[in-house]
Amino acid sequence: MLMQPRSRRAFLRAAAALGTAPFVAPAFAQQKRKTPARGEYLLRGGYVMTMDRAAGDISRGDVHIANGEIVSVGRALGATRAKVIDASGMIVLPGLVETHWHMWNSLLRSMSGDERKFGYFPTSAGLGRHFVPRDMYIGARLAATEALYSGITTVHDWCHNPRTPEHAEEDLRALRESGIRARFSYGPARGIPVTETVNLADLQRLHRDWRSYSNEGLLTLGLAWRGVQYAVTSPEGKMEFKPIPEEVYRKEYDAARSLGIPISAHVNIGPKIDYGHVAALDKLGLLYQDLQLIHMISSTPEEVQAVAKSGASVSLSPYTELRIGFGFPNASQYLDAGVPVGLSVDTTTLSGDANMFAIMKGIQNVENAAANNEFKLTARRALEMGTILGAKSLGLDERIGSLVKGKRADLIMVNTRRLNLGVFTDPAHLIVEAAQPANVELVMVDGRILKERGVLTGVDVRQVVSEAAAANAAVRQRAGWW
Ligand SMILES: [Zn+2]
Repeated sequence: MLMQPRSRRAFLRAAAALGTAPFVAPAFAQQKRKTPARGEYLLRGGYVMTMDRAAGDISRGDVHIANGEIVSVGRALGATRAKVIDASGMIVLPGLVETHWHMWNSLLRSMSGDERKFGYFPTSAGLGRHFVPRDMYIGARLAATEALYSGITTVHDWCHNPRTPEHAEEDLRALRESGIRARFSYGPARGIPVTETVNLADLQRLHRDWRSYSNEGLLTLGLAWRGVQYAVTSPEGKMEFKPIPEEVYRKEYDAARSLGIPISAHVNIGPKIDYGHVAALDKLGLLYQDLQLIHMISSTPEEVQAVAKSGASVSLSPYTELRIGFGFPNASQYLDAGVPVGLSVDTTTLSGDANMFAIMKGIQNVENAAANNEFKLTARRALEMGTILGAKSLGLDERIGSLVKGKRADLIMVNTRRLNLGVFTDPAHLIVEAAQPANVELVMVDGRILKERGVLTGVDVRQVVSEAAAANAAVRQRAGWW
């Protein structure tokens, strides 16, 4: 039976509220894609940083792209049918890889206030509860648009507010329409009790139908997991951790493992809270290769070794970890143990912006300050964390993260002729210490040009921002927020 849009929506809402009826893919699934077509390109004469240790850097280098794939990287390449893009004066490098970001709450940018009741957790939970599905779309679209503008070609959308299947659908729609590469990790909606699991039926539905969501392989599915313990704030403002019931975390973990999708969790957040979470996971035998561990501020040497042995990866978000007071991230202890470490935005409700250049610089500066050593973490190592190691942290390094033949064509060009990049000296230092999102001249994802001559293609930025402002005002009004 065909339903009229109005009654169809009403049906979806009712079905979602009941949580029992099967979810029907909504009409917007058929919406026309806005992303530009793939082309055959030859980037000519740039300073190419392949971020592949064997291939190294190539000055006056070319990159040939066809069918969304890197065909070759080298000097003076011939490609008669390709459209030539002048890369002189540009640093050409892999697209930046972001590894953990609650994209929906970009709608609440910089709203973590100066009093306890307006801190990040009460704000995201208090307002997140009032999100309608379209708010998820508008928030995630704002985040994805900012990512692409800033040279981030892959994100890990750690979605912890799918209040109904429609909320998840809307978040996914934003990713799909943007043309970005993403992992979408399905998590618990803000404020649900720890006795309740993630909506596993909906996760399984998405997994079953993933072919229609994956946007030609750009999007992958994961579980955003709470782990085996959670943090609570007492009325006095003291944070402590409590165990999550075994029947809850087991069900979630086993569901993801049986679907063969990766799992990601916030753990060892700080010395005062969520302490020993990794030790608990290790004891339970839950550490494994496709597990990504976020923050990892307060890990003991034994925990670091356990993680290294398991093959699990780490994601650090220096700006939110510093801003909220979790403490200082320690990348070196994981890198030295051979654990892949990626970098992340986490949430712009706290960090303000999604600037991976600043994040790489931040992690380098924190490392060097903590070690009282100018040379502790090199710029190139920080850039590896923002590219190939980030891809490894997401299990995507076979496809992306470096510019080598056969990988998907995710890359950026940074214009070194801009004021803040003059003069051209050490390229790794320039990218990590001096570059800004506005210097990103070209962004390509899977062979599609999504930013060209410094301007985003296929998206009306003014509309993205104005609709976000209207949605933010409406959410605040519904919540009775300031
Ligand atoms: Zn987070």
